[in-house]
Amino acid sequence: MAEKQGRVFSGARPTGRQHLGNYLGAIKNYVALQDDYRCVYCIVDVHALTTIETTKDLELNTQEMTLDWMAAGMDPEQSIIFVQSHVQEVMELHTILSMVTPLGKLTALPTFKEKVRDNPDNVNYGLVGYPVLMSADILLYKADTVPVGTDQIPHLEFAREVVRSFNHRYQTNILVEPHAKVTEIPKVLGIDGERKMSKSLNNHIELAATPEETEKRVMEMVTDPQRIRRSDPGDPDVCNVFSLHKVFSPPEEIDQINQDCRKAEIGCVDCKRKLAKNLNKHLVPFRSKRADLEKDPDIVKEVLLDGAKRARVIASKTMKEVREAIGFYGTKV
Ligand code: SF4
Repeated sequence: MAEKQGRVFSGARPTGRQHLGNYLGAIKNYVALQDDYRCVYCIVDVHALTTIETTKDLELNTQEMTLDWMAAGMDPEQSIIFVQSHVQEVMELHTILSMVTPLGKLTALPTFKEKVRDNPDNVNYGLVGYPVLMSADILLYKADTVPVGTDQIPHLEFAREVVRSFNHRYQTNILVEPHAKVTEIPKVLGIDGERKMSKSLNNHIELAATPEETEKRVMEMVTDPQRIRRSDPGDPDVCNVFSLHKVFSPPEEIDQINQDCRKAEIGCVDCKRKLAKNLNKHLVPFRSKRADLEKDPDIVKEVLLDGAKRARVIASKTMKEVREAIGFYGTKV
């Protein structure tokens, strides 16, 4: 087996059953990276506390998300898959890094402003420090590579600045500056055709939905808004159904739809039926693997506890170095 290139870290909040947006925006890439990198994939349940009002679904959401990750091909033999709160060193590093982080930098980040807009009644201390905890996640595992979409580049740049501040203040080089691996993500919207696919907007299609549920959701999708009658020519370039065809349908079918839609030679109902068929075909291996995994009620627990154990080996070594670099009493023997 070829030598792996470096260590990747990525985290996602425990949002339960995953949808096509999660799959195309993150999971597909997580799976692909496993062959070339030592990957550390984390379910960031502590981050989730900054915005959720109740933790009653936390456990179930973690369970369902892990099943989806594994069914999609994230392999606990190849990668470390674990829950953030199981490795408590991250809280310690978060506190330490917060001392080298100017408050002004945090409040100037565009994502902070967005979060304040979205949660005006809950602008908590954790929300301000979110990027510090995110940096702690990456730096604790000395990840040199972080897969990001273009909107997350400022956060990664922030983490790099935190590394430089820490290393400069304590005259060390133990923390590693992570590099962004910018990923091309196909532009796919929710079934409303307007906003990103999201569970909270109920405009999503779950990976674990049945073929019938999937077809029903596809049939609800908004198409080219200018195409009112079957006889009107459509514009696939503004149609979200076509965006999904481009990901899940064979090339010759995509070409045909592209031509036929523009000449009104295919109706949207037929076009959606074709998409549902191709999507369901694509999801056959996923569904079959998920059904197998569900037969073992302990599988998720075992995978996540084993992942935490392996993550803790890296984390405790980093924290020993961090404490020594700072010079806490008794750390230098
Ligand atoms: Fe969209 Fe297909 Fe209808 Fe064209 S025919 S507008 S691509 S759903």
